[in-house]
Amino acid sequence: MKQRTIRKNIELVGIGLHKGVSVKMVLEPLSENSGIVFYRSDLGVSIELCPENVIDTTLATVLGKDNAKVSTIEHLLSAIHAYGIDNIRIVLDNEEVPIMDGSAIGYCMLLDEAGILEQNADKKAIAIKKTIEINDGEKFVRVEPSNKTIFDFTINFDHQSIKEQHYNFIYSLQAYKDEIARARTFGFLQEVNYLRSIGLAKGGNLSNCIVLDESGILNKDGLRYKEEFVRHKILDAIGDMSILGMPLIGTYVSFAGSHKLNHFLTKKILAESEAYEVVTLESQAKEEQLEYATQM
Ligand SMILES: [Zn+2]
Repeated sequence: MKQRTIRKNIELVGIGLHKGVSVKMVLEPLSENSGIVFYRSDLGVSIELCPENVIDTTLATVLGKDNAKVSTIEHLLSAIHAYGIDNIRIVLDNEEVPIMDGSAIGYCMLLDEAGILEQNADKKAIAIKKTIEINDGEKFVRVEPSNKTIFDFTINFDHQSIKEQHYNFIYSLQAYKDEIARARTFGFLQEVNYLRSIGLAKGGNLSNCIVLDESGILNKDGLRYKEEFVRHKILDAIGDMSILGMPLIGTYVSFAGSHKLNHFLTKKILAESEAYEVVTLESQAKEEQLEYATQM
């Protein structure tokens, strides 16, 4: 299996979720072994995607370097990762990735329009060799060895429209588009009001967020999937785990995980050399390779 980039530049203008300002985003092809790189065109600063550049995970995953930052990157990264793209430059003229409809489907449509280009270099992946876990009270995120890529998530909210939800997602691009990509971000009205009072969530509205009050869901068209909330948590986790810099071969399991716990998990995996092995997909046992390849 070979590395991938996109075939041509593709451009989009939208608004950021938190600051609510207009931002132009251009996705550009990059050469082999370049990785995923953000570029703030207004500041002339490049920020490589890696755990060391993560500077905040409170409300969204934020990368920063040299006084420049890029925020709310996880939904875009989730789609880029699902498409198996290894090398791409994301040019932004402001600090937030456009929020689109709060899910990843808009980015999938952009990538479909740009087209996928197979490159010459072999594709590498991180195969998990040992279980690694991060705990925070009863919340946890964990990776376990497996020859597939699986995301298994459970949430439990004391709210009648959510309650306990569980979803097990076996990765393939088609399954991602069908089961995960359309799941939107969500927030509680009280929380949204508080965030607005401190100058955040300014771009958030019912067209890019599921909003809940005490009695139910405010969006008049309701949900897109029965377990849309937990599916969105998987969408986020796929984006956050892509900060490892390579596709993950293993099973990710979480109860009530967050951007913060995902970030700690990526750091802990990379800090333990016996926890993972970087594999060239060509050099893996034929059977496993075939299994992974047919997933893509
Ligand atoms: Zn999200």
